[in-house]
Amino acid sequence: MRFTIKNGILILSNTLEDSLPIAKIPTIPQPQINPNFAYNRELQQLLTGKQLLLDDIPFTLDEIQTHYQNGYVTYRQPIVYKGKQPICARCGNKEPQWFATFPCSRCEETCLYCRHCLMMGRISACTPLLGWNGPVPDTIYPTKILEWEGTLSEGQTVASNQVVEAIHGNQEHLIWAVCGAGKTEVLFAGIEAALTAKKRICIATPRTDVVLELTPRLKAAFPNITVASLYGGSEDRHLFAPLTIATTHQLLRFYQAFDTIILDEVDAFPYTVEESLQHAATQARKTTSAMIYLTATPNQKWQSECRAGKRAYTTIPARFHRHPLPVPEFVWCGNWQKRLQKNKLPQNVIDWIQKRLRADKQALLFFPHIPLMEKALTILRRIAPNIEAVHAEDPDRKIKVQKMRAKEIPLLLTTTILERGVTFPNIDVAVIGAEDTIFTESALVQIAGRAGRSKDYPDGVVTFFHYGKTDQMIKARRQIVSMNREGVRRGLLDL
Ligand SMILES: [Zn+2]
Ligand SMILES: [Zn+2]
Repeated sequence: MRFTIKNGILILSNTLEDSLPIAKIPTIPQPQINPNFAYNRELQQLLTGKQLLLDDIPFTLDEIQTHYQNGYVTYRQPIVYKGKQPICARCGNKEPQWFATFPCSRCEETCLYCRHCLMMGRISACTPLLGWNGPVPDTIYPTKILEWEGTLSEGQTVASNQVVEAIHGNQEHLIWAVCGAGKTEVLFAGIEAALTAKKRICIATPRTDVVLELTPRLKAAFPNITVASLYGGSEDRHLFAPLTIATTHQLLRFYQAFDTIILDEVDAFPYTVEESLQHAATQARKTTSAMIYLTATPNQKWQSECRAGKRAYTTIPARFHRHPLPVPEFVWCGNWQKRLQKNKLPQNVIDWIQKRLRADKQALLFFPHIPLMEKALTILRRIAPNIEAVHAEDPDRKIKVQKMRAKEIPLLLTTTILERGVTFPNIDVAVIGAEDTIFTESALVQIAGRAGRSKDYPDGVVTFFHYGKTDQMIKARRQIVSMNREGVRRGLLDL
């Protein structure tokens, strides 16, 4: 499609000579709201707080254009230029290699598009980003918003109060909660406070699994509030809701939508490596808004900002069951890779495993790479044939985790895929080759955090088998020890 400016507004044009693709129009005028115009309520629901392409919504260009001319719809440039450098307005991509061109039938030119966010629909130089400029849809709030009746631990209460305060004050705040502290409950009072103040709130996380797990819990806690649950292929895509749970990818469709964003697991893949997701989270916030970060393992930069007093944060150093976190032990196991090549495992690793098998204690064994893990699996199946192994691309991943929960498997070998998000009540944990670079401080803290989670079995052994201690191993252990110390100091642990 092509546009031209006439009498101070953007209009559609079919004549090539006097019109341009929208990315080439320097400034897009925004008409005044016409209060007498009967706007479409469905379109209002679809576009409020969003940045969508025409292809995303079931409305004709004519209808959109009429709403624009009456001031209700906004057109934004899909691709903006910084000098000659294109920047994708949706995902923030500015890498030239992530842009490409195609012969476009819409604008009849060679059209530039962003390959980086292509999975969200093609955004090209002639496709405006559509938004809403009219009144927001009415939301009816129940008198009692939060129906959850559980209790918080002392540590959770302190953090919960901070979340409420940050939401009221539109501040940024980090909740640094150890694995198994019970961080979801810490959000309830804050979500309630936001909804009571008629604020729109979003909980975003890098992982779809987390969205699927959080949705029923939040629907149960807030039964009279509309909850939109957004992930690739979800049915709530067009649902306008005061409470949204979304993957960070889905935030790419939002624009200045939320008064509060709670960002869970900021340290998890792919959020940490993809700048576009950080861009998406920033864009989805209103200019005045609160941002709550939630993690068990902030990166080095954030940790030092916390220590230097440059970042507002609250720790929850103790688990709900008031037992300290298991501290990893370091055990040297020699050149284990070389031994594996000879179809052998280090003797102390074998001993560790056999001890668990004899005692009927389940264990998770982490490996840095799939081929080495597969080799170890063959060896270990000679000892116990029902041992299994999982990795990210394993189609039976869910079944195997289920089997482990049902105690049908004594030992589960895994890559870092199970470093977070899974809870088995009574397990020991070992890392084979903890010196590998894949085992960062954050990964190791998460792995150690798999042990001792349940109140019936609050202890668990965590062993890092290594061929040379690394900085990351030492930092991980130091972080765990220091959380335990803080737990003791604040009286949050029973010793
Ligand atoms: Zn085009
Ligand atoms: Zn893009």
